[in-house]
Amino acid sequence: MNISYYIEKGDYKKALILINKALIGDTSNEKKLFNKATILYYLQKYKDAEKNFMQLYGKNTNSGILFYSMALVALGLHQKEKALYLLELSYLNGNNESVYKIINLLFTRNGICDYENCKECCCEKIVLNGYNGKPIKDQQTFEKLISNPKQNNAWVKITENKKNEWIFSCKNLGEKNLCKTHNSRPEICRDFPNGILSLKPECSYFFVLSENKYKFRTKQTLDVVLDILTEYKYDNERQIIESYLRN
Ligand code: SF4
Ligand code: SF4
Repeated sequence: MNISYYIEKGDYKKALILINKALIGDTSNEKKLFNKATILYYLQKYKDAEKNFMQLYGKNTNSGILFYSMALVALGLHQKEKALYLLELSYLNGNNESVYKIINLLFTRNGICDYENCKECCCEKIVLNGYNGKPIKDQQTFEKLISNPKQNNAWVKITENKKNEWIFSCKNLGEKNLCKTHNSRPEICRDFPNGILSLKPECSYFFVLSENKYKFRTKQTLDVVLDILTEYKYDNERQIIESYLRN
């Protein structure tokens, strides 16, 4: 079995053993170093992941994906300012997905899940997005998604919609919309909705602008963020961000 097999199955400890072996005698192989750093990130060994990503920083391999991965590590280390800086670099180097992560950083979630009265039933019928940010339509993308230890591995495909997007339900969903594993539910469930843009219309959570007034390094990124907020009809939030950032 190769390293990708163990990564896709979520066996990161085994993947780490194999990548360490693969790096013996090939210590500056950039692809292998990137893989090792990613595996360390999945294992939540953020400091080690950071050290490994730093070996790639400034080596002509600086790409949107590298900066994005480094930003995720910074978030794991609770370094939000640094994460924003890296996400901007990621966006400026071609990774559009970074902008959505930046918007998540600007807002803080409040409230609780009113599952008993909620009409959304988000554990019962949901379209899941894969790593490319697009709805899942095939088994491979689904397996890759649930290989992340933070994900919910109790999703089951129940049907497809007209756009061939897979619709999932959860094996842990009990009577009256109650989660049977509420106290030990996966991180992805605890974090949902994980950003203002994924907030469902009937959801009892709400988002407020973070007290930390983040500084953008470039006008280009700021403009894209503001445009997305307008697209999602968050005009007030847009104005507030605009006023404190442009002044
Ligand atoms: S584990 Fe619980 S909270 Fe998460 S999707 Fe399943 S039922 Fe919902
Ligand atoms: S939409 Fe919000 S309130 Fe409704 S079940 Fe999902 S998280 Fe809970």
